[in-house]
Amino acid sequence: MENLKKTIILKSTLACNLRCKYCYEFNRLNHNKPDVQNMSAETTVNIIDQFSRLFPKSIILWMFHGGEPLTIGTKTFNIIANHIREINQSRDVTYKIALQTNGTLINDNWCMALNLHKDLFSERIVSISIDGTKNYNDDARITQAGEGTFDRIKAGIEKIQLIGMNTTTISVVGKHNVKHPKEIYRFIRELNPHMAKFIPCYNFDEHGKTERLGIRPLEYADFICSIFDCWMHDLPTMNDDRWLVIDPIATIIASIRHSVVQWCEYRREKCENFLNILPNGDLWLCDTFNQDLHRKSGYRGNLFEMTDDELMRIITDTQELFDYFQFKEDLMRECDSCSVNEICNGGCLPLRHVMRTISDELAVEHCEAKRKTIRRIKEVVEYAMLES
Ligand code: SF4
Ligand code: SF4
Repeated sequence: MENLKKTIILKSTLACNLRCKYCYEFNRLNHNKPDVQNMSAETTVNIIDQFSRLFPKSIILWMFHGGEPLTIGTKTFNIIANHIREINQSRDVTYKIALQTNGTLINDNWCMALNLHKDLFSERIVSISIDGTKNYNDDARITQAGEGTFDRIKAGIEKIQLIGMNTTTISVVGKHNVKHPKEIYRFIRELNPHMAKFIPCYNFDEHGKTERLGIRPLEYADFICSIFDCWMHDLPTMNDDRWLVIDPIATIIASIRHSVVQWCEYRREKCENFLNILPNGDLWLCDTFNQDLHRKSGYRGNLFEMTDDELMRIITDTQELFDYFQFKEDLMRECDSCSVNEICNGGCLPLRHVMRTISDELAVEHCEAKRKTIRRIKEVVEYAMLES
């Protein structure tokens, strides 16, 4: 019997009610999406049960992801959440829930369901995607009919906050908003999230040209550096009630200060701590692995075709991760001589590999952008540490 500590991304559904202009689900990966689009409540419950049986002292964060996870409906969600609660009580496991949603389906019904189970949520957080003010958000995040989603997302965030849950905002930084960091920062701060995360829209064609609102790595670096300047400017006015944690800035600061770093991209231990389950039972280390390029390093088999013993083995036997560790070692070797290696810790492996596959120039720029951001933050943080 093995202990296990993992984040398991449950892709309960691949269906989504939106058609965001940059979305990889409908663009980059659409051609090889599996046939099975939804995972039933019964199947999900069986999976959770199987893990709790095989790994009796496991600590697992079950992350509901999609597609849009709220399309599974509150009935299915309640069955799964109730089952997790039961398992927590009857077995020696610690299971928590996380939810990443586009926020447009949050209504009173969902608020009742989330409120009922909020104690199961890690730090009571719901992550909601929003790309800034109405004009920027609605340039990218649209419905299937092409309508903007801002009003519905903002109402969703307010509803979640009203039931006493915390929100993390996730903003994609792309062509639609990259030139407006100050405006985006001010808007996100007003929303009062527990945390704000800015992630780059790295959509490139095979020649390395940006497409579908994609931006260059150095554009992303400039955006994050400007957000950092705004945050530093506001720092003296922040108190415990109005403290805004921004990623990747907070993670970089934690890494500089040798504190605990949560974000996998900035940790030595990376994808080996994750598991991604698709509705057809396919197991991948993480969603970011490309199904064509990274099958050898990222694919772990099909859960529905495995015996208990096989599942135990692929999870606990490090030999089973041989190809992944080779892939990791290969990419990490490039970091040995890098001046920010101790803080950056190698970034996201499949993302770096994709960049390198597209062009050397892109891979070089990606690391240059990381170094630029880290140096800018480090300079200020070290100065502040000297002063204090
Ligand atoms: S693939 Fe990237 S995002 Fe996923 S676990 Fe690995 S480092 Fe993290
Ligand atoms: S900037 Fe690039 S080379 Fe340097 S540590 Fe990060 S990923 Fe590795």
